[in-house]
Amino acid sequence: MIFRQLFDPASSTYTYLLGDRVDGQAIIVDPVREQAQRDLALIGDLGLKLAWIIESHVHADHVTGALALSKATGALSAVSQHCGATGFDRLLDDGDAIEFGTASLKVIGTPGHTPGSSCFLWHDRLLTGDTLLIGGCGRTDFQQGDAGTLYESITRRLFTLPDDTLVYPGHDYNGRRVSTIAEERATNPRLAGVTRERFIEIMNGLNLPTPARMAESVPANLRGGAH
Ligand code: FE
Repeated sequence: MIFRQLFDPASSTYTYLLGDRVDGQAIIVDPVREQAQRDLALIGDLGLKLAWIIESHVHADHVTGALALSKATGALSAVSQHCGATGFDRLLDDGDAIEFGTASLKVIGTPGHTPGSSCFLWHDRLLTGDTLLIGGCGRTDFQQGDAGTLYESITRRLFTLPDDTLVYPGHDYNGRRVSTIAEERATNPRLAGVTRERFIEIMNGLNLPTPARMAESVPANLRGGAH
């Protein structure tokens, strides 16, 4: 199998490309519009055929590359049915499997950062979107975020996965690329030994600035990347 972690410096977003060597079908997760040419070049260099473009949620900090990639490759796009988004070819739910070639990606519904936030499990690798970040987690103060729901998603759905499951986040702002479930369960300062009540307090006290591109990104991403 082919696995690539790609980075967009402007938004600190990680995009993931997964490919099946047997028949060349591929999935891209959380592409960034400004990186579409880079992604298409890599897909071509690796001899892959893009089958699916998947979003972990409706992003507030960048516009998805889904539209550009689907136009160029004919790939189908998908996002959780709980995002309230239109313009996608398939709406996902917890427990779904996205088949590509001989491989498949399992959808884990993890609401909290947004109602439609999802994680994707592929063998020992978990793509966590903004649900679980390395040493952190997605904010819950807009887009119908809910701290208590996020706590339950992380502790019940993600921290119950095997210890050595690799955690590949949707962002990192400090150059970190990968972690494990055991490390996050033991050391994530927002979650390790933290009660649900305390987690809600922490999340409600973050006072984060509004993302610079939120006004542009959310409406576009709700329509599959269309303007
Ligand atoms: Fe997000």
